[in-house]
Amino acid sequence: MQTPSLSSILRPGTYPLLIDGEERPGAAGRRFEVGNPSTGRTLAQVAEADAQDVDAAVRAAQHAFETHWRHTSARQRSRLLRKLADALERRSEQLAWLETWNVGRPITLTRASLRTMLDGIDYIAGVSQGIGGQTHNIADTHIVNFTLREPFGVVGLILPWNYPLTLTLSKLMPVLAAGNTAVIKASEVTPLSSVELGAAILEAGFPPGVVNIVHGPGASVGQALVDHPLVERISFTGGTSTGKAIYRSAAERIKRVTLELGGKSPLVVFDDADLDAAAGVALQDVSRNTGQICIACTRLVVHERVIDAFTERLRVLYGRIRIGLPEDPQTEMGPLVSSAQHERVQRYVEIGRDEQADPQAMQDLSGRPELREGFFAAPTLFAKARSEMRVAQEEIFGPVQALIPFRDEADAVRIANDSRYGLAGVVYTRDGARAMRMCKALQIGNLAVNDPIKATADAPFGGFKESGLGKERGLDAILENTQVKNVRFSMR
Ligand code: NAD
Repeated sequence: MQTPSLSSILRPGTYPLLIDGEERPGAAGRRFEVGNPSTGRTLAQVAEADAQDVDAAVRAAQHAFETHWRHTSARQRSRLLRKLADALERRSEQLAWLETWNVGRPITLTRASLRTMLDGIDYIAGVSQGIGGQTHNIADTHIVNFTLREPFGVVGLILPWNYPLTLTLSKLMPVLAAGNTAVIKASEVTPLSSVELGAAILEAGFPPGVVNIVHGPGASVGQALVDHPLVERISFTGGTSTGKAIYRSAAERIKRVTLELGGKSPLVVFDDADLDAAAGVALQDVSRNTGQICIACTRLVVHERVIDAFTERLRVLYGRIRIGLPEDPQTEMGPLVSSAQHERVQRYVEIGRDEQADPQAMQDLSGRPELREGFFAAPTLFAKARSEMRVAQEEIFGPVQALIPFRDEADAVRIANDSRYGLAGVVYTRDGARAMRMCKALQIGNLAVNDPIKATADAPFGGFKESGLGKERGLDAILENTQVKNVRFSMR
């Protein structure tokens, strides 16, 4: 398939806000630029919201909640969600290209993740219809005691830049299915696909105000959303330090929060493991989305007896990753999202050098003129890392991994848990009992054994420790978007 022209995918003017069912500019008329990370050039202009726009969006969401959305049935909401899936499917090529140009993720991958997302909507639309309260057999037989699961009202959704559409939808679907209305604050780095999501929401027939979308910097627009008194709940995905600041602000009014934060996930490889399969997971995590994945295994914790054989496999695999322009269907790994992210990765390579972690670039990109303008980086291994080093402790968010040897199972557990994060982890071993012991010992919210980590719509997802609070996805996500009301109903 040919690369489409920019003008056939991009809107001609400024990308608008969506408030109360209307696409509109920001009240102050301000705009900001977003770029294409594979060329370093400006891609589009986006309307910037201010506190007045955030207030209008929240009030529209509150009005839609009170007058309409809270009175709908789960079935009515599910029907609209399915219509949204249809509307998204109709514009799937446009969405895939927007994500490819704005995020830098190869087109084959943005197309594939759209397919998964549509299946996810189907799951939420189905399972949400079975959610309800319970009756309780309490001591007083003249009382029927039951619970209702009720929506909160307006939920604020704040998103990062790495998987804009997937993450927005995985938050939004359970929020809406549970009967809440939403104000979305897309990442200021990658807001374009959220504007087309807004258009799909209008096309699907959602009443005005049920979903509103604002754009702009986190410190002003995001903070205004978190602080707004009519926002009952915040669902945030992003960095741990931002998550802590949001948690502190939300505490002021005891707002409910879901926080999906950073990670430094271990891939633990025992000496009896299928080394090819384990190396395949490491490869996927260094290259997919250029390593900018919260759940990526960035600490390769490998038994000392097999570490050389494992590293040799990585050298071969990483040397073959097809790094290139994301428009090319052959490309497996595109650029980093921005110059800031590129500088961050380079800075950590220097930190690793200073720590004597022995950073080794697995490809030489210097002879690739077509990559010169963009924010490309070679997959890099810190070949002599130790657990206490900064490159093994801090989230870098790029195609870099730290290789750390271990002696025995207890050592593997100690190293894998030696992190303030607890988002995800993978264990490779052929010993079933040991695998089960590891599952119990690891302080990690999302584990996989002899398989890569995947966040799917139909299973709960969320981190331990400083990786987050609460669950997204699966049935748990819908339940988290409801509050339980207990009712004593007298028959006297
Ligand atoms: P970030 O924390 O810088 O920004 C995330 C969002 O928060 C952006 O929309 C930003 O504008 C907004 N924001 C910033 N300051 C704010 C404030 N004071 N109040 C309200 N909103 C504010 O994160 P990022 O750089 O966009 O994304 C990368 C991070 O996201 C990484 O740490 C990654 O691990 C994390 N992430 C986590 C998950 C997960 O599911 N756990 C998934 C994807 C990304």
